[in-house]
Amino acid sequence: MAYDPNNIFAKILRGEIPCVKVYEDDHVLAFKDIQPKRNVHVLVIPKGPYEDMTAFAEKATDAEIAAYTRAVAKIARELKVAEKGYRLIANTGADGHQEVPHLHFHILGGEPCGPMIKAKD
Ligand code: 5GP
Repeated sequence: MAYDPNNIFAKILRGEIPCVKVYEDDHVLAFKDIQPKRNVHVLVIPKGPYEDMTAFAEKATDAEIAAYTRAVAKIARELKVAEKGYRLIANTGADGHQEVPHLHFHILGGEPCGPMIKAKD
């Protein structure tokens, strides 16, 4: 899958669509999910053009990977979910039910997240 520069998170990064920002540094932006699934629901994205975790892990620089990983912890602390815990989700590709083709981690918490995933019937 090639990176689509017109995906909605690319537009947020360019300032063409507003967001409720919770964190930003040279490599990372985090903002509230528009349809929160828990009391805390924040999306963490790298600023670089990576469609998913596979592309990011294979192509991003060490500095980008370090910044993205460190940002998750900083944001979890700032959101006060680090102590009681949170769920980190990276839906990836079609089977992963990824809707926006720009890598994003969902940080969900502020209340119990429930079982990880429904078992197959
Ligand atoms: P995915 O299914 O790709 O893992 O998750 C995409 C997430 O992006 C969804 O939770 C959805 O609510 C969120 N989302 C989609 N469009 C927007 C938007 O324009 N602004 C924000 N803040 N979140 C969005």
